[in-house]
Amino acid sequence: MSAPAKTARSLDDLVAVGAVPRTTAEGPTLRAVSERYAVAVTPAVLASMRSTDPASDPVARQYIPTAEEATTAPEELGDPIGDHAFSPVKGIVHRYSDRVLLKALHACPVYCRFCFRREQVGPGGEALDGAELARALDYIRTHEAVWEVILTGGDPLMLAPRRLVEIVAALDAIPHVGVIRLHSRVPVADPSRVTAELVAALRSVRAAVYVALHCNHAQELTAEARSALRLMSDSGIPLLSQTVLLRGVNDDAATLEALFRALVQARVKPYYLHHPDLARGTGHFRLSIAEGQALMRALRGRVSGLCQPTYVLDIPGGHGKVPVGPCYVDLPKEQVTDPNGGTHLYPPPAKDCA
Ligand SMILES: *Cc1c(COP(=O)(O)O)cnc(C)c1O
Ligand code: SF4
Repeated sequence: MSAPAKTARSLDDLVAVGAVPRTTAEGPTLRAVSERYAVAVTPAVLASMRSTDPASDPVARQYIPTAEEATTAPEELGDPIGDHAFSPVKGIVHRYSDRVLLKALHACPVYCRFCFRREQVGPGGEALDGAELARALDYIRTHEAVWEVILTGGDPLMLAPRRLVEIVAALDAIPHVGVIRLHSRVPVADPSRVTAELVAALRSVRAAVYVALHCNHAQELTAEARSALRLMSDSGIPLLSQTVLLRGVNDDAATLEALFRALVQARVKPYYLHHPDLARGTGHFRLSIAEGQALMRALRGRVSGLCQPTYVLDIPGGHGKVPVGPCYVDLPKEQVTDPNGGTHLYPPPAKDCA
């Protein structure tokens, strides 16, 4: 695709740039879906699609709305990982004592069709105003157990650079904050926002600043995206990634292998592979945990430990994230499975001493 100048922000915009056929857009279901859940596709993302058909391109499938999103299953939830129950003040989620999420804004560069916060993010959701941000920072200041602050949202790299630098500086001034982690899709979705000035400002603080990139397919790691990542890693910002396991996008071992190799080669350490959350209208993206475990077992034999993320499930209701295998140890049988599927007793049977 050749890139238009502006981000497409509606079904009509997608038709105008040729990403959705006019006849498809005429269906009432697709119109309703694209009004219910925010739409945004940046020129950089559109340019990385080989086809704009969500059925045949792993990037298009992540961003182009489809009528399938109109189907909601009974187990799907508006707040699938239970953020609301752990939000003591607006913009803060405090589920684990030593770390908080700080959601300073609701905007993202793109809107993913499988998003776990799809009913919170979007152009309608406002950023924290000055007073709300002050209250959120006060909360962190008065909770000395908080060692790590995770800026998420929305995407923190969508903040005006001056505002982001102010927030990072305010966090850095809190002595018990040791780590500031930014979760972002910007380096792949809108790489031109990652400027040398911004990176230098993020790097110059006392606390350790980490960036966790959300990336689900090697095709997203374009030359521009890799340059943005290089700017950050060259300046000493450690890079991690999180990937959502998605049917039709990355649900086979070869695709995951290519993604994790490409990330490691871009100096990004794969951190989490998320089992897809029970967000409304996302059933067409979901796999079973058994399928996810089989993929992780296949990866273990194919790529090095550097390329292995932890496969995690965020337990619905706000009960936290847990690794969900694969598990190679069968304790009752005192048996361990190797990467090729062979089984071995552990501890090994004692040998007779002759
Ligand atoms: C995911 C998450 C974190 C971060 O967890 P890590 O396992 O440290 O990456 C923190 N708080 C909440 C509420 C989360 O959902
Ligand atoms: S970038 Fe993250 S928060 Fe934003 S729409 Fe995608 S998954 Fe949701």
